[in-house]
Amino acid sequence: MKSITRQKPFNEIEQQLEDLDRIFIVGCGTCATMTRTGGREEVLEMKNRLQGLGKMVTGWIVIPTACDEMTEVAFRENNGAIQDANSILVMACALGVHRVSLYIGKPVIPALDTLFIGIEDSPGDFHEVCAQCGQCVLGETAGICPITACHKGLLNGPCGGTNNGKCEVDKEKDCAWTLIYQRLKEQGRLDLMRKYRPPKNFQVVPRPKVARIV
Ligand code: SF4
Ligand code: SF4
Repeated sequence: MKSITRQKPFNEIEQQLEDLDRIFIVGCGTCATMTRTGGREEVLEMKNRLQGLGKMVTGWIVIPTACDEMTEVAFRENNGAIQDANSILVMACALGVHRVSLYIGKPVIPALDTLFIGIEDSPGDFHEVCAQCGQCVLGETAGICPITACHKGLLNGPCGGTNNGKCEVDKEKDCAWTLIYQRLKEQGRLDLMRKYRPPKNFQVVPRPKVARIV
C-alpha cells in the first residue's frame, strides 16, 4: 500500500516559494521514490530548477520514509543546512509534509499533490483500493470496496447501467457490483446483496482514481 503522488505544476511551486529564497529540499525514499515524484533523481532535478530561478538550495536529503519518526533524526544530522534555509520544500506525500512540519518552525511547502492510497498492479500502474471512509463494508462485499471500485461509489448494488459485467462509466472496466455479486455467490452469501446500507457522507467522484507513472 503506497501514497500515490503527482508533482505539482512547477509554476505553483514557484508561486509558493515566491518570497522564500533559501530552500532545503526533502525527498522520500519510499512511496515518492517508487512513483518517481520525490526520489533522489527528482530531488536533484528540483534543485537544478530552483537554482535556475536564482534560489539558493542550502541542502537536500532523501529520507528513507519521510512520514515516520526517523525524519527527526535526519533533520538533526542536517541541522546546519536546514538552519541556513528559510523554507523546506517537501517532495513526499501529505503525510511526509505533516511529519516535517512537526519538527520545523520554518515554512514547509509541499511540492507534490497526494492523490490516493493505492497498490501497484504492474510497474507504473496504480489503483486506489481504499478511500479510508471510516465505515468499512468489505466484510459484506466480499473484499471489494464499493466506494473505490465502483465509479459512483454505490453501497447498495449496481446502478442499472452495468452491461455484460462492464461499467457504464468506463466500458473497459469491470462493474464492481457484478464482481461483488459473483464473489458473494461463490461464497454462498448472496443474501448480503439484499442488505440495506445507509448512505455515507461523501461527494460522488469518479472512481477508482488511477495514475500511470511514465
Ligand atoms: S469501505 Fe472501502 S473506503 Fe471504506 S474503509 Fe472499507 S475499503 Fe476503505
Ligand atoms: S456500472 Fe459502474 S457505476 Fe454502475 S454499479 Fe457498476 S461499477 Fe458502479
